[in-house]
Amino acid sequence: MINFILNNQKISTNLPFSMKVLDFLRSQQGINGTKVGCRTGSCGTCLILVGKLDKDMVSYQPLNSCLLPLAEVNGRHLVTIEGLNCPQLNPIQQAIVNEGATQCGYCTPGIVIALTAFFLNSPSLNESLATVALDGNLCRCTGYQSIKRVLTLLCQQFTLPNEEQRSSWLIKNQILPTYFLEIPQRLQTIQAPKSHLTSISPNSTIVAGGTIPWQSDSSKQVIFLSQREDLSGIQIAANRCYIGATTTIDAMQHSQVMQKLFPKIEKYFALLASTPIRHRATLGGNIVAASPIGDLSIFFLALGASVDLNDGQNQRTIPLKGFFKSYKQIDKQSNELVERVHFPLPDCHAYFNFERVCKHADSEIPSVNSAIQIQMNDGLIQQIHLSAGGVAPIPLYLTNTVNFLTGKEIKVEVICEAGKIAQAEISPLSDVRGSTEYKHLLLRQLFYAHFITLFPEQIDSRDILL
Ligand SMILES: Cc1cc2nc3c(=O)[nH]c(=O)nc-3n(C[C@H](O)[C@H](O)[C@H](O)COP(=O)(O)OP(=O)(O)OC[C@H]3O[C@@H](n4cnc5c(N)ncnc54)[C@H](O)[C@@H]3O)c2cc1C
Repeated sequence: MINFILNNQKISTNLPFSMKVLDFLRSQQGINGTKVGCRTGSCGTCLILVGKLDKDMVSYQPLNSCLLPLAEVNGRHLVTIEGLNCPQLNPIQQAIVNEGATQCGYCTPGIVIALTAFFLNSPSLNESLATVALDGNLCRCTGYQSIKRVLTLLCQQFTLPNEEQRSSWLIKNQILPTYFLEIPQRLQTIQAPKSHLTSISPNSTIVAGGTIPWQSDSSKQVIFLSQREDLSGIQIAANRCYIGATTTIDAMQHSQVMQKLFPKIEKYFALLASTPIRHRATLGGNIVAASPIGDLSIFFLALGASVDLNDGQNQRTIPLKGFFKSYKQIDKQSNELVERVHFPLPDCHAYFNFERVCKHADSEIPSVNSAIQIQMNDGLIQQIHLSAGGVAPIPLYLTNTVNFLTGKEIKVEVICEAGKIAQAEISPLSDVRGSTEYKHLLLRQLFYAHFITLFPEQIDSRDILL
């Protein structure tokens, strides 16, 4: 039985755990404001808010209902566009009307949901943060200029109160209807039981964030890892950083531990996917999917990370660079779970950089990405890790380039030579994201970009790009 609150109504259902929330809303509840778009989490027309009780507050995330299974709303508050309606148009809806920011109207419910999440969660109200909040919403009519005017209007219209008063302030300003006030109390009575899953059978389907399409198969048990709270979180112990497999991109991006280790992580991870996907996409899912262009695989390869695997009986640890075998083949048995990824803490002489290039926009699967970590000692490279995606059948650790650079001084001739070695150890294919030649060139440019960014005194772009 799955229990949750849908807008202002308590729901209990025995429908399959794996049914997508979008289908539940439209075909079971006749709630049609949530639209069907791409069904791949790319367009945002099916966005809903999902609220989770956290002590006596509810924290809401905008999620793609086309990817979200019913199991994941157990014990939660689910809000569709219908659940945001007040007696009159709310200020977000009114701003959209005032600025003529709805043309065919199909994307509008998703945009209202995304902007409501912005008001619920944003640390401040400014246009650049509001634009990021809409990074998962497409408007097929390309009415982006009028949508931008809506953001300007809303950011000028309101000033946020302090954190504790946020919900009552949103209700007072009719951005949320009044029934939201009672939701924390009501959710207390329908908390979902915790799972104590310990073993995985080879015949199970594992779902973490579920952002990579999966089919439910009645002969297979579906295991929803989000219920394993022990697999989520970031900790430092014994000079290493441990990240649970179900930790999301959003959680890493906003973690104080990660921000201290990688001061630019907010900027790096803002480039990945979109706000709703970052709330769901996990580290474990990214590396197990073994996409040759997987951003997290590339990021953690450059940290010299290791992976802990567990089959319920035994645990083993392997280096991430040995985890990827061939295209989508990994060193993992079907009954093994990736429990965590961990890496040695970089010391104060370590430099880190992450680069990615996309064909159209940043928040899209890149053509080529690359990460580097360098530890210097006495002006020489003492240790280096270098990775690149989109240039081989697997997320690639560039062993030959690493071997060449170890012990070297950083100067233009050395980096040019290393760039040639890097290009020689990749084997990109031509595809929709670029030709083989283009990807060879991109890798070299990203490799140079690492050094131009990290060592501007030794490597000047005008010298190296001649
Ligand atoms: C619109 C959109 C944009 C995207 N953009 C990007 C992007 O910019 N960069 C990028 O790298 N990726 C991107 N992705 C791909 C995807 O979101 C990420 O790779 C994500 O990290 C996958 O994590 P997940 O938790 O959703 O995995 P899931 O879909 O839940 O799982 C993926 C696979 O891993 C297995 N699995 C998951 N966790 C474990 C575990 N702990 N142990 C064993 N097996 C496990 C599952 O069984 C499944 O086979 C995008 C996806 C979408 C839909």
